[in-house]
Amino acid sequence: MNRLNPLCAAVLLATSCAVTAAETRPVLVIHGGAGVVRSDMTATIEADVRAALLKAVNAGYAELKSGKPALDAVTAAITVLEDDPNFNAGKGAVFTHDGHNELDSAIMDGSTLKAGAIAGVRTVRNPILLARSVMEKSPHVMMAGRGAEDFAKANGITLVEPAYFRTERRWQQLQKALAEEKAGVAHADPETAKHFGTVGAVALDRSGHLAAGTSTGGMTNKRFGRIGDSPVIGAGTYADANCAVSGTGWGEFYLRTVAAHSICMRVGLLKQPLAEAAAQVINKDIPKLGGDGGAIALAADGSMAMPFNTDGMFRAWVGADGVAHVAIYADEGDLAD
Ligand code: ASP
Repeated sequence: MNRLNPLCAAVLLATSCAVTAAETRPVLVIHGGAGVVRSDMTATIEADVRAALLKAVNAGYAELKSGKPALDAVTAAITVLEDDPNFNAGKGAVFTHDGHNELDSAIMDGSTLKAGAIAGVRTVRNPILLARSVMEKSPHVMMAGRGAEDFAKANGITLVEPAYFRTERRWQQLQKALAEEKAGVAHADPETAKHFGTVGAVALDRSGHLAAGTSTGGMTNKRFGRIGDSPVIGAGTYADANCAVSGTGWGEFYLRTVAAHSICMRVGLLKQPLAEAAAQVINKDIPKLGGDGGAIALAADGSMAMPFNTDGMFRAWVGADGVAHVAIYADEGDLAD
């Protein structure tokens, strides 16, 4: 039971109960991508990633604990992950075919259905902050490329040189992908396709409101101008009054299955339990088309789901127990609380 209702048991006055019944135990779930290739993991990367996930989940949860809205928690957690070079978002983003970093991001407020998204930006240090600005300071939902960057400048969002995003690890992943492409290895080769490291967060605040956000560099070797699922509301990111989802995986398949929205519609309209709805879309509908990946999902009752069908998904959460958990592989379990 997620509702905090301490006075209702002791006080029979209906007014007191009405006040306390509105308070919800906050929950935060984050991911750092489902592109874990177990054989590529070193002890150092694993330790760094676990530390970064812990830092991000703590930063986001601190917002919720102090009574801030779910949107603030999502923004805080994602900003930490964007600044960490281990993830494919912000610094450390993957490279396009022609050697650039093009970033996509989206945020959505489940209580108002307001949303903001940006795509294909090359100079915005924290794309999630720009997505949020588009939501809060423009009449639009989605902005792309130069227009989004001009809007960032006009709204005081930090801009950086494109070289800021570069890491040697991502550059080498591009070189490998280019070599494979030249040798005629199909684009669908899992080793190439599975460098997902997108980051995302879903949060439930004390008022019972949900929010979701996602930020990514997309997929290694993507063509100039390719936009994945992450910034597309309903595909990689969605939140409403019942459910919030952030996806990570082979974006084309999340777009085609409208993955995040499909999960939430199953919860809201079909009344499916969250875990069942998320597993259906992530582990059945997407693989049936040939795609793969994972997602984090959170329902208004505080229940969470983190399905994935890759080697692992970087993830962390603070649930009803108020304790931060970090996991990568399937055998680490997500239902500690
Ligand atoms: N979904 C992202 C995209 O296709 C990739 C990822 O999850 O890492 O752009």
